[in-house]
Amino acid sequence: MADYDVIVVGGGISGLMSAMTLSKHGKKVLVLEKRSYVGGNCNSYDVDGFQVDTGVHAITHLRVGPLRRLIDTYFDYSPMFLDHGSYHVRTPNGLSKIPFNLKAFARFDVLPKMDRLLLSQAITKAFTQSTLGSDLSNQSVYDYLPSGLSEDSLDFINAMSYSLSGKSMYETSVHRMLTGSSYMRDSVPENFFEDEEIAKSYVALLANHLTMSQLKGHLSILSRLANNNTGYSQAYPRKGLKGFLNAVLFSMNDSVQIKTSSRVTGINTREGAVKEVVTPDGTYPADVVVFTGFAKDLPALTDNLPSSYIQDIGRIVQTHSMTIWLGLDTKLPEFDYTGSEVWFKRRAFWAMPISNYDKSLAPPGKQLVGFTFIVDESVQLSVDRKRMYNTILTALPGIKDHIEMTHYQYTIPEKASVTIDGFFADTRTPITNLYLAGTDTDSRSMGVTRAGYSVLELLKVLREDHHIE
Ligand SMILES: Cc1cc2nc3c(=O)[nH]c(=O)nc-3n(C[C@H](O)[C@H](O)[C@H](O)COP(=O)(O)OP(=O)(O)OC[C@H]3O[C@@H](n4cnc5c(N)ncnc54)[C@H](O)[C@@H]3O)c2cc1C
Repeated sequence: MADYDVIVVGGGISGLMSAMTLSKHGKKVLVLEKRSYVGGNCNSYDVDGFQVDTGVHAITHLRVGPLRRLIDTYFDYSPMFLDHGSYHVRTPNGLSKIPFNLKAFARFDVLPKMDRLLLSQAITKAFTQSTLGSDLSNQSVYDYLPSGLSEDSLDFINAMSYSLSGKSMYETSVHRMLTGSSYMRDSVPENFFEDEEIAKSYVALLANHLTMSQLKGHLSILSRLANNNTGYSQAYPRKGLKGFLNAVLFSMNDSVQIKTSSRVTGINTREGAVKEVVTPDGTYPADVVVFTGFAKDLPALTDNLPSSYIQDIGRIVQTHSMTIWLGLDTKLPEFDYTGSEVWFKRRAFWAMPISNYDKSLAPPGKQLVGFTFIVDESVQLSVDRKRMYNTILTALPGIKDHIEMTHYQYTIPEKASVTIDGFFADTRTPITNLYLAGTDTDSRSMGVTRAGYSVLELLKVLREDHHIE
C-alpha cells in the first residue's frame, strides 16, 4: 500500500502546480526534486545584492488562459503581476516600438518600406489561409517569405522566430508564428480599413482567393478580431519570478510533502503499470506517478517502453539559452522604460531591465538588466559567450563603464521547442498510471503558460482515468 496517492517527479513549476492542484483534489502527494531547491527554471536568487531570475521572463495570457484558470480555481494566494509594458526593437538609432498590427507595421521604419509592404501581404495571406483551415504547421517561415527581402528584414524575422520557437526561421513554422505571437492575434486593428494602401492589397488578395460567401465569412472573423480588444495580458511577477513560485508554494495543502536533493533514478513497473519510484535514498511504492522532468529521460528510468514510443520522444527538439545578467552602478537612460527589447542585427538578444518593474531587485540607485541569447551549438560555449557579450557592447556602447556585476545562466528554456519536425509527448504514457506534465507535453503558448496548459491537461486526463473527481 503506497503512502502517497501520487508521486510527482520534479519540483519545477509544472511539478509544483501539479502537486498543489492535486492536493486540492484531496490527494496525498510526494514531490521528489533532484536539486537542493525547488522551482526549476521558474526562480530568482541573489547575486551580489541584485535579485536575478532564471532567464528573462514575461508571463503571457494572464487575462484569459491556463494560468488565469489555475489561479482562479486553485490558488489560495494570488500572485501579483505588473504590466509588461512595451516591446521594443533596438537599433543603432535607438528604440522603436515593435508593431502589433498591420497599420503600425506599415509605419515601422526600422525595415525598408518595400519589405514592409511585401511582408504585410505575406502576413495577410498566411492569416487568410490559416483562418480558412489551411495547415501551415509544416511550412517554414523562411519558405513562406517573399523573395527580395533585405538582410535587415531577414535578421528581424529570424530574431522573431527564435523568440517564438527557440529555433531559426528555417525550423519555425508559419503556424507557430501566427499562433505564438500576439502580433497575429491583434493584427487586424479597429481602424484596419482606414489604411488604404494595405486595405486595397488585402481586398485584392482576398478577391483572388475567395468566393463571395467565403469572403463574407472571413470578413466577419476579421471584424470580430478587429473589435476584440484583448491587449497583451502579459506581465512580470511582482518581487520577481520567485513571486509566482511562492504563490504556488503558499497555496499548497499540508497533504503535499516535498523532498529536495532526491534524484529519481528509476520508475519500476509491474504488469504494465507503475509500481514504485527509486531514489538513491529509498524506494517509494506508487499508485500514480506524474513525471515532470525531460520526457526524453524516461527510457533511462523505466523498462518496458515500446520502441516506437522511445523513437518518438527521441524526436523532441530542444534549445539551449544563455542569459547574461548585468548589474549596473547607475540607472542608464538607455533603459528608461518598462518592457523588453530585441536586438536583431546578426546576433539576436531579448533584454529586460527588470529593476524598472520593482526597484527592490537592485541596490538603491542601481539597475539590473538581463539579456537572453539562443546558444549557437556550432561553436564552443566559451567562444559563443564572448560573442554574446560583445553583441551587448555593440548594441549598447554606453553600458561598458557601468557594469559592476556579471552573471551567466546556461539553461534549457523549454523542454521542447515548437519546430516543424519537433515532437511533443502525450500526457498519458504507455505505462499505466505514469503520466507526464511540463513544457514537452503541450505545444500551446510558451514557458510558464505552457506549463499551465500541461497541468490542466493532466487534471483532465486524471479525471478521465478516475483518479480524481
Ligand atoms: C532564459 C529563459 C527565458 C524564459 N522566458 C520565459 C518567458 O518569457 N515566459 C515564460 O512564460 N516562460 C519563460 N521561460 C520558460 C519557463 O521558465 C519554463 O518553461 C518553466 O519554468 C518550465 O517549468 P517545468 O516545471 O516544466 O520545467 P523545469 O523548470 O525544467 O522543472 C523540471 C524540474 O524537474 C527536476 N527533475 C528533472 N529530472 C528529475 C529527476 N530524475 N528526479 C528529480 N527531479 C528531476 C529538475 O531539477 C527541475 O527542477 C524561460 C526560461 C528560460 C530559461
